[in-house]
Amino acid sequence: MTHDKRTLAVHAGTRRSQYSEMSEAIFMTQGFVYDTAQSAEVRFEQAGDDEFIYARYGNPTVRMFEERIASLEGAEDGFAAASGMAAVHGALAALLRAGDHIVAARALFGSCLYVLEEVLIHFGVNVTFIDGLDLAAWKGAITSDTKLVFFESISNPTLEVIDIKAVSTLAHSCGATVVVDNVFSTPIYSKAIELGADLVIYSATKHIDGQGRGLGGVILGSRKIIRGAIEPFMKHTGGAMSPFNAWMMLKSLETLDLRVREQTKTALGLAKSLALRGDLERVIYPFLPSHPQFDLTNRQMGAGGTVLTIDVGSKARAFAMMNALEIMLISNNLGDAKSIVAHPATTTHQRLPQDQKDLLGITSGLLRLSIGLESEKDLLEDLNFALDVAFTSV
Ligand SMILES: *Cc1c(COP(=O)(O)O)cnc(C)c1O
Repeated sequence: MTHDKRTLAVHAGTRRSQYSEMSEAIFMTQGFVYDTAQSAEVRFEQAGDDEFIYARYGNPTVRMFEERIASLEGAEDGFAAASGMAAVHGALAALLRAGDHIVAARALFGSCLYVLEEVLIHFGVNVTFIDGLDLAAWKGAITSDTKLVFFESISNPTLEVIDIKAVSTLAHSCGATVVVDNVFSTPIYSKAIELGADLVIYSATKHIDGQGRGLGGVILGSRKIIRGAIEPFMKHTGGAMSPFNAWMMLKSLETLDLRVREQTKTALGLAKSLALRGDLERVIYPFLPSHPQFDLTNRQMGAGGTVLTIDVGSKARAFAMMNALEIMLISNNLGDAKSIVAHPATTTHQRLPQDQKDLLGITSGLLRLSIGLESEKDLLEDLNFALDVAFTSV
């Protein structure tokens, strides 16, 4: 019997101890004991799925989180990491060798860009950056020497939607592995594996925790890649998730579907209302018919996600608006129950030179809005008030 995501999010991966506890236990232990010297020897020779030897390799609470999120994603297996970046770096470093070629979409989260441009290049990996929306560019850049392609399924902060199926088909025709950073889609709207992704990565820090408490990440994919390539690299290099954070993320998965769908509904409502104001230079939301990849978004996700982006025309106006907000908080996280506003040009993307900002459409008036669980009416009042203040004062 196959179950819906709502059901899997509550039950999948649960392991009960001899006490039959209702709520999943936190196994706050780094080690495990063996009855005899012989059983320790056997465990080290062939630790099975239910057997643990050291928390850097695996832990029962961490394993519950991995199994629950893998089942939500429709992946065979997963490996949890200390943060989203430990997952991105771990997946890429585990799969790549000096001399390998990779093709990546240019619009990337700043730290992903650092891993590709500053870390992997120093280990002899050749990286080609392209415009992820341009299928001809993917086709031109991927060759029989390409080992891997990497992209964010929805880019930050301009919300460009990349065609997972088309890029995966091109990559697979050349034997390349497809790695997708899927944060903005969330496991709720993701069909990435079905569409051809070999590995799907989440920063659990975002929607999965969704309450701003802790860092986490996860790499999802086939059992062969996860246990064959990812696990050996991760367990020996130390990017493991702590059992406490795994417990927090595991319990958060129970409400992920409800939170993400509600936040998405509010984000769509706000995007429509803000577009009607008529004074904003841009309102970008993947599920507005005006979005250039609206049809693709509909096929690939069936929803627009919890983030929308607006352009108010200038930095001065953007700052005036942010400072006039009462409910929405100024921060750089996203996916949280609390609505958050960020000015990418001066924070998350400050490091980028101006020509890169221009190329990525990160204008001085751009604001990224991460929509939380507050009421849509209150958020719209907050936004309209702050925008009115900004447009009258600047
Ligand atoms: C936040 C984020 C990351 C990094 O995750 P951390 O948990 O902060 O390490 C990577 N990719 C994307 C798209 C993100 O939004």
